[in-house]
Amino acid sequence: MDKTAPTETVVKGIAASQGIAYGQIFLYVQKDLDLPQFQIDPARRVEEIARFDRALLETRKEITRVRAEVARNLGEDEARIFDAHLMVLEDQALIGETIREMENTGLNIEACFHRVSQRYVKAFEEIPDEYLRERVADIRDVSKRVLHALLGQAAASLGSMLQNRIVAANDISPSDAASIDRSNVLGIVTEGGSRTSHAVIVARSLKVPAIVGAAGIAAQARDGAWAILDGYDGLVILNPTEQTLFRYGKLQEKRRSVESRIMSVSRLPAETQDGVRVTLLANIEKADEVELVRNYQADGVGLYRTEYLFLNAEHLPDEEQQFTAYAAVAQGLAPLPVVLRTLDLGGDKADLGGVARIESEANPFLGFRAIRICLESPEFFKKQLRAALRASACGNVQIMYPMISGADEVAQANRLLEEAKRELAARGQAFDPKVKVGSMIEIPSAAATMDLLCAECDFFSVGTNDLIQYTLAIDRLNVRIAHLYQPTHPAMLRTLRTIFGEAARHKLPAGVCGEMAGDPIYTGLLLGLGATSLSMAPPLIPTVKYLVRNLKMADARKFAKEMLELRDAREIQARCEEFYRERTKELSLG
Ligand code: PEP
Ligand code: MG
Repeated sequence: MDKTAPTETVVKGIAASQGIAYGQIFLYVQKDLDLPQFQIDPARRVEEIARFDRALLETRKEITRVRAEVARNLGEDEARIFDAHLMVLEDQALIGETIREMENTGLNIEACFHRVSQRYVKAFEEIPDEYLRERVADIRDVSKRVLHALLGQAAASLGSMLQNRIVAANDISPSDAASIDRSNVLGIVTEGGSRTSHAVIVARSLKVPAIVGAAGIAAQARDGAWAILDGYDGLVILNPTEQTLFRYGKLQEKRRSVESRIMSVSRLPAETQDGVRVTLLANIEKADEVELVRNYQADGVGLYRTEYLFLNAEHLPDEEQQFTAYAAVAQGLAPLPVVLRTLDLGGDKADLGGVARIESEANPFLGFRAIRICLESPEFFKKQLRAALRASACGNVQIMYPMISGADEVAQANRLLEEAKRELAARGQAFDPKVKVGSMIEIPSAAATMDLLCAECDFFSVGTNDLIQYTLAIDRLNVRIAHLYQPTHPAMLRTLRTIFGEAARHKLPAGVCGEMAGDPIYTGLLLGLGATSLSMAPPLIPTVKYLVRNLKMADARKFAKEMLELRDAREIQARCEEFYRERTKELSLG
């Protein structure tokens, strides 16, 4: 063995998306800039200005390079944001003011540039004009690049990742996740995050492995190092030896044969052995996932997370742009239903790159989020509602509100929906006047008032990711308490029983669209408790379907009843695993 080869190191984390990847690491570490501030000798000012000029030039080259790369990989539309960045870079007022700041204060050029760009950001944030306010994101982004250039450090960017890499990061925000070039990612491993963080949701929809809570990965992994990502057991093996590679190769072979067994049912109906047809739907984030939904034979889209259109946007998408995206999905899948969830911004999706300000909050998941933002900005919300309504003329669109805490919020949202309908009618634009309206059930107060919500809604979908976090008071992104995030907590089972029971009493459908719905371990439990549909990342559909075809609904109901009698989350979890294993023995790797 080569004595100079780096030693194999295993980092343990939490398995979040299944699969095994082998490839080179792309290290994505976001560090706060350590900005020096010191007085400079007046005789050195010319030198400082020359340094500033060089940094601007370097930044220009860097932006032009990234622009070309993004245009090549993602298209001209996505690349246009960088034109706006180049304009900021050429802003003579910004440059002139930085030099004047240096002359007035005698400080080094990076400190002056930082001060001036901060002033610009603040001034632009206060401008009532929406277009100008949107420039804040560009100024922030460009300033960061210039400061990196002045300090001689390269700024990390997921958009500029090389092909076929495993992303290793301390954390990946939803807007980072949205900027990942999806064709280039082999897998994702993060120190922070959780099984329901958005980078993981992206990984699942790409069918690549993801591991979260891998403490120390950002410090131990080297950019370009080779690694195995084991998304089944939550392991990252840095610099694997030949023996390890051989072992994983064998394991991969077995997994492939299991996979082909599962895929053998993918074109068959999701029908239980006692003849009950189960509705399996897809969760999507972008309009271009229509193909994926079709390929995995989903019965429609149960959750279209429309806020992804807003993350990383150069401008807030207007009604027309929203309509184009929604109509593409509706038309592409008609007559299948498409549940379009209205904006769920805030929480961990507060970073819009500055195009819309969501103030940072002490408890963002308990804060200004989703429907709360929309009801406070009715004109902004109605833009989305009009776009959704117009899309309802192109297919089978249903509208769903997120983060509903009670019937009054649904009533308010419905009033705005009616206004939006009247506005469209006045314009002579087509829409489905009977468009179905639903609520996500992800806050315990909504679950407790299901009977009241039934008067305002046509359907429900349980967002277990949030419902678990709010029921058990466990921040869904906090690695420290990830072990306490228990989908099988008796409180969850009782809450789910209430939700499905009340909906059924009012003859309304209630499905599940949180991550629990895509984990076959919970399929028997959820169906047995009364879920009328399960919605998940499209690649997970065949595995869930496999189990559906191997169970009897009568057994699932009996099983759920038994589980409701148990007191311990771990015991219920173990019984769910057993329920799955007993019915899928031929999928075992052992
Ligand atoms: C959920 O909370 O379960 C859900 C589906 O919504 P999101 O993950 O987008 O918050
Ligand atoms: Mg949610």
